[in-house]
Amino acid sequence: MAEIIEKVTGKVKTTAKKVGKKATELASTTKQTVLLQTKNMELGKKMKLLGECYYAFVRAEGTAHEEEAKLAECLSAVDALKAEVADLKRVIAIAKGNIACPKCGEYVSPSKETCPKCKSSLEHIAVTPKK
Ligand SMILES: [Zn+2]
Repeated sequence: MAEIIEKVTGKVKTTAKKVGKKATELASTTKQTVLLQTKNMELGKKMKLLGECYYAFVRAEGTAHEEEAKLAECLSAVDALKAEVADLKRVIAIAKGNIACPKCGEYVSPSKETCPKCKSSLEHIAVTPKK
């Protein structure tokens, strides 16, 4: 009896795992979109901080060493976030089946005939979207 219960429980657990995995896959694009929004907000904050650092650096005159270090720190933080945001955008765009504009690199729906960013024609690549 206990053996049967064990078997059934084991089966239920396996099924639950499978369902959970599928749901995770479906939600991954949404998750990445949310993550992208979070990163964009962080980037906005870091950009503001960078502005403040730069102001402090320019105004420090003479004793700029500490301000310079802060400025460099802000710059690398912004660089890292920009790279993360670009990566996320690319991953999401590819997951949505979008194609990269050959001129500016913006990800565009394959149904679009022109790039919304640089206005270059996408007709030639829109016909044969990349897989
Ligand atoms: Zn473009």
